[in-house]
Amino acid sequence: MSSSPSTDTRSSRRSFLGTGVRAAAGIALAPSFAAFLQSCTTDSPVGPTGNWVELADALQGTLVMRDDLDFIRLNTQYALAYLSTVPAAIALCESEADVVACVNWARRNNTPIVPRSGGHSYAGFSRTTGLLIDLSQMTNSTFDAATNQITIGGGSHNKEVYDAGRLTQTTLTHGRCKAVGVAGLVLGGGIGFNMRNYGLTCDQLISTRIVLASGEVITASATENPEVFWAVRGAGGGNFGIHTQFVKQMLPAPTMTCFRIQWGTELEQLFDIFQDIALTAPREFGVKFMVNARKVKNQTELYIEILGQLAGTEQELLTLLAPMYAVAKPLFELTETVPYWDAQEFLSEDGNPEYAHERSRFAFGRISAEGRDAIFRNLRNWPGTGVDAMWKYFLMGGRIADVADDATSFPFRSATMITSVDLEWVAADSGKLAENFAWLDAFHAEMEQYTSPYCYVNFIDNRQTNYLNAYYGPHVDRLRAVKRELDPNNVFSHPQSIPV
Ligand SMILES: Cc1cc2nc3c(=O)[nH]c(=O)nc-3n(C[C@H](O)[C@H](O)[C@H](O)COP(=O)(O)OP(=O)(O)OC[C@H]3O[C@@H](n4cnc5c(N)ncnc54)[C@H](O)[C@@H]3O)c2cc1C
Repeated sequence: MSSSPSTDTRSSRRSFLGTGVRAAAGIALAPSFAAFLQSCTTDSPVGPTGNWVELADALQGTLVMRDDLDFIRLNTQYALAYLSTVPAAIALCESEADVVACVNWARRNNTPIVPRSGGHSYAGFSRTTGLLIDLSQMTNSTFDAATNQITIGGGSHNKEVYDAGRLTQTTLTHGRCKAVGVAGLVLGGGIGFNMRNYGLTCDQLISTRIVLASGEVITASATENPEVFWAVRGAGGGNFGIHTQFVKQMLPAPTMTCFRIQWGTELEQLFDIFQDIALTAPREFGVKFMVNARKVKNQTELYIEILGQLAGTEQELLTLLAPMYAVAKPLFELTETVPYWDAQEFLSEDGNPEYAHERSRFAFGRISAEGRDAIFRNLRNWPGTGVDAMWKYFLMGGRIADVADDATSFPFRSATMITSVDLEWVAADSGKLAENFAWLDAFHAEMEQYTSPYCYVNFIDNRQTNYLNAYYGPHVDRLRAVKRELDPNNVFSHPQSIPV
């Protein structure tokens, strides 16, 4: 059932971004990327030359060089702020043998490599000036009805998981952005609306195949290379090798009541009431809570939004949320009780390329009244861009915390929330970026005392200092030992990777 008024501000903002930012990208390209585009003239050599020919010949897939028209499309990915790092070539791999060929060729030719699956790294860490090993064609999947296990290619996206889940009437913990890669998602832990009921995405991982820097291919599972299996469930992508396949346990896909509800008044009171609801809610309840800021005629307007699902009826949802309705009438509400995968269409987002920076913190308990006041004060003092800003949390707990903190490398299972501050902008905001980033950094720093020093590696943040402790806490030394074993020459590295 759906009810109610007004426009859906959040999704209209997203669709605005879908068109607006692509247009904006065209008028304010980072300088070296603009220079690169100018170098793409028709008199440039066409196709691979020199030692690249050997690699092109070895691949079943395609080696796309800078002079190929398709290069510009393939070079674009989610984080527009980092497009100025341009690869020398992009290998569109079609098989594990292609990935092995790339790794072996790069070692012989002393060329840096970086893997990419969905291309949704917040910090643009799936970029290189060397060889970009793109797995996005490797999306084949098979389903074993006897075990309910799915075997999927290392380049799959949430989209292919949605397709397979709908076909088999099963699910797991997935993200809501269809374009995000399964590899990045699962390797960093993986959060989604099912996590309180089913655990993190990495908790459903049965095994994975990995191409190491030596070109050797290993399997990691509970019985094969168990220490590697421990490490890859939380360390994040780009650290140990290139994952070419994942076997995952699929689970029942129940009917869902999904919802998107916004309030524009009594915000501080609603913030507290919703925390009471969330921290005692059943596991079947998955939610993202947001305090949004938007500029209207130079004034900052705030509103609260909750987005999520309940494996239950609409009446059960309304009973759960009754204390919210008792305080204020929503500005906007949409609820629907539908089959599982229809609910995921309701909840999904596109994840189009955009300018954004997100800074996260795990919270272990309740956000105090002082913390809440800091959130509202900071948002009211936001300098402003052409898009919205936001403080939000994803509710954790439930099944996530049933697993011991040291059972996988994801270390913060007893957290109650992953919180974050989001800043987004458009190209026309370039003159305002310095004050917006100063605001973002000060807000993030102030929130440490109300949350924790720990951050989510999948919301990877190149402004985070002391990042090893922030992402891995007590697991740093154990992860470094695995790194030394698998990749002693640090072939797989990015600015915040696990060092040897
Ligand atoms: C719009 C959007 C929505 C998001 N929603 C969620 C969400 O609901 N839940 C959640 O937990 N996170 C979410 N994230 C964060 C997301 O999980 C991470 O950004 C993740 O790293 C993206 O994975 P990717 O494969 O798309 O990215 P990529 O940029 O391709 O890769 C990310 C990192 O992993 C490495 N890598 C890529 N492929 C491989 C591979 N096959 N083997 C080894 N390393 C590899 C890359 O080199 C890079 O370092 C979201 C991000 C965005 C931008």
